[in-house]
Amino acid sequence: MNGSGRFAELSVPTHWQAVDVISDLHLQAAEPATAQAFFDWLAQPAGGRADALFILGDLFEVWIGDDVLDAPSETCPEAPFLRRCADALSRLAASIPIYFMAGNRDFLLGPEAARRCGMMLLDDPTVLDWSGRRCLLSHGDALCLADTDYQRFRREVRSDAWQADFLAHPLPVREATARSLRERSEARKREHGHDASLWADADDGETLRWLRQADAPTLIHGHTHRPACHALAEGRERWVLSDWDLDAAPPRGNVLRLDRHGRLQRLPLKPA
Ligand code: MN
Repeated sequence: MNGSGRFAELSVPTHWQAVDVISDLHLQAAEPATAQAFFDWLAQPAGGRADALFILGDLFEVWIGDDVLDAPSETCPEAPFLRRCADALSRLAASIPIYFMAGNRDFLLGPEAARRCGMMLLDDPTVLDWSGRRCLLSHGDALCLADTDYQRFRREVRSDAWQADFLAHPLPVREATARSLRERSEARKREHGHDASLWADADDGETLRWLRQADAPTLIHGHTHRPACHALAEGRERWVLSDWDLDAAPPRGNVLRLDRHGRLQRLPLKPA
């Protein structure tokens, strides 16, 4: 949100027919099947493509600073994989615009990495304005108000002071810190007994406030890994993106396509 208290807005070029929206791929070298599905999807023939790609956060399992893209593999074992991801994205960016909004895993992805990936950075949230038809986009973690511990943690790590301090450390130290943060979050999930329904979900009251402020009927978000379409009051809707896990049984992953008429449709990764 900018200083005036209004949400950021992006005007869609009037000739666009449709855009594709994805989130929560959690790309990492340790999960090659999901990475390969992403590379294959990025490399699909232009015929099946929308006019732009919107990535609503947690594209990467973890992002510890843009300098990781220049790190030797001895310093950062994940670096060659992340360079491969950046190359694949920038190849697609030669044909269509790619927009990226940070998630809670990759919120440190900054202007330099965005440039290398050919992505334009979006604020969370951002209103897409398509000739007056409006749609609100968010990662979704800021709406999970019931998880007060997480909201406190979020405020801390999103502060300039925390980020400047974190980024001042050498890469191996940052990797270790990121690992321990992840272990802490895994431990909290175990406390909830791995029952996803007990994790905080997007708060409907806050979602309605956001949609009213955005003057939009629809919110699209990720983060919760609970793909669904929720009908809200006032005829508004909350669409939740799927995460991608090609090793799960059954494999998960799809793309949400938004067209110029405001219609939303889930597309499989491979056309049937
Ligand atoms: Mn997330």
